[in-house]
Amino acid sequence: MLGFSPLTDRHGRAITDLRISVTDRCNYRCVYCRTGSEGAQYSELPIADYLRLARIFVDLGIEKLRLTGGEPLLRKGLIELIRELAKLHTRLGGELDLAVTTNGHLLEDQAMRLKDAGLSRVTISMDAVEAKTVTRITRVPGSFAKVQRGISAAQKAGLEPVKVNCVVMRGFNDDQIVPFAKFSREHGVIVRFIEFMPLEEGRLWTPETVVPFSEVVARLEQFRPLVKLPANTSGETAVRYTFDDELGEIGIIAPVSRAFCEQCSRVRLTSDGKIRTCLFSQFDHDLYGVMRRGGSDEELAVFITKTIARKEARHHIGEPSFLKPSRSMVHIGG
Ligand code: SAM
Repeated sequence: MLGFSPLTDRHGRAITDLRISVTDRCNYRCVYCRTGSEGAQYSELPIADYLRLARIFVDLGIEKLRLTGGEPLLRKGLIELIRELAKLHTRLGGELDLAVTTNGHLLEDQAMRLKDAGLSRVTISMDAVEAKTVTRITRVPGSFAKVQRGISAAQKAGLEPVKVNCVVMRGFNDDQIVPFAKFSREHGVIVRFIEFMPLEEGRLWTPETVVPFSEVVARLEQFRPLVKLPANTSGETAVRYTFDDELGEIGIIAPVSRAFCEQCSRVRLTSDGKIRTCLFSQFDHDLYGVMRRGGSDEELAVFITKTIARKEARHHIGEPSFLKPSRSMVHIGG
């Protein structure tokens, strides 16, 4: 133990949730995320360096650690990283909640090895439950079948609960809300609808493209009555529901129409070792620069603590003063 206090910011929020991007390469070119002409833009750290930084973060109070990207399953050394991360304990001696967010394309082959390495669970991104729409979005033929097999493999490996995240966009895939509800009930996965945020490489986002929380609820209610479920944790971003027959689980994550910044417990580390204190930050904080210059664990912990103290109070989506963040989602780590 380094002997520092647990991470908090100047707004009194405890920071317990870290997302580490292990690459900004991706094998999908989802039309709402990437332009299709940009490739990877930032470097990747050696796996051992992510591990060292993660250890320091955990020492400082991180309890939930999610590996993401880009597409994390593309990253060589991921299994070894998970094996080492799974040995870490929280400050109170509990198990670290260790998860991966993936597009699922390579999951069929990797699910069992991920589980054996100590991964707790996976979240799989899939924006429709029909092959044609999935291919139109990912721009990769055969992606729907691949992701289906990935979901089954994750369930078989016990990487549960398997969550399937769908970013809902008006006029694009909003006809998928009820089919996704049926998918949750038929396949035993938690489906989560996420509001589209202005984080894309291109310029697609307008307020009208967002399908707000209230509309998702109304569409689901037309299918079957919803029953609200209690939050799993105090900082949970999803509002959870099941249906009147208790079959299926839906989460709605509404960062635009019902921003949850006041409860935000999250920071991110980019693939090139920069801290992002908010998805919509205008600046990166060069943690890896401190490490490259030979910084000790204590010096890194001081940098992390001071940077996180200055975390932004909230985002400004939809306000006249809103500025696009300095990186798009795929290059931050979603
Ligand atoms: N490749 C992995 C995957 O597909 O889950 C991890 C990275 S991906 C950037 C993480 C998540 O961000 C995906 O669920 C994706 O749908 C979501 N995402 C990307 N752009 C977004 C946006 N503008 N608004 C909301 N979510 C977005």
